[in-house]
Amino acid sequence: MPNGTIFSKIVKGEVFADIIYQDEYITAFRDILPQAPVHILIVPNVQIKTLNDVVDDDIHLLGRIVIVAVGIAKNMGIAEDGYRLIMNCNKYGGQEVYHIHLHLLGGQPLGSILGI
Ligand code: AMP
Repeated sequence: MPNGTIFSKIVKGEVFADIIYQDEYITAFRDILPQAPVHILIVPNVQIKTLNDVVDDDIHLLGRIVIVAVGIAKNMGIAEDGYRLIMNCNKYGGQEVYHIHLHLLGGQPLGSILGI
């Protein structure tokens, strides 16, 4: 589980990503391998490796991540039809990048949750 993942580099502008939102706490950018017409990753600017590492002090940060995701869904016009938010944790959860991130998926019917 490396320190300083590709997402930390994206947050700092060291690696290119299609960033669609950034503030002091959060960065959102398009997934490089989109699984739906809209596939955005919303990440905290500081690395938290997995959901298992979240602590009480992160409560506002996680709330902000959800609020930002919903705002993006509304701005992109997919909120009314609906969308899916996913956070993967560790191997069985399918986590590939060890810097927590919320997937925002939408823009088409997404089917069963196990199909994604
Ligand atoms: P997860 O399996 O939940 O860890 O998801 C990691 C996601 O990060 C995958 O959907 C990848 O396509 C995406 N990803 C990996 N590298 C990049 C990158 N450089 N820019 C944008 N998305 C990326």
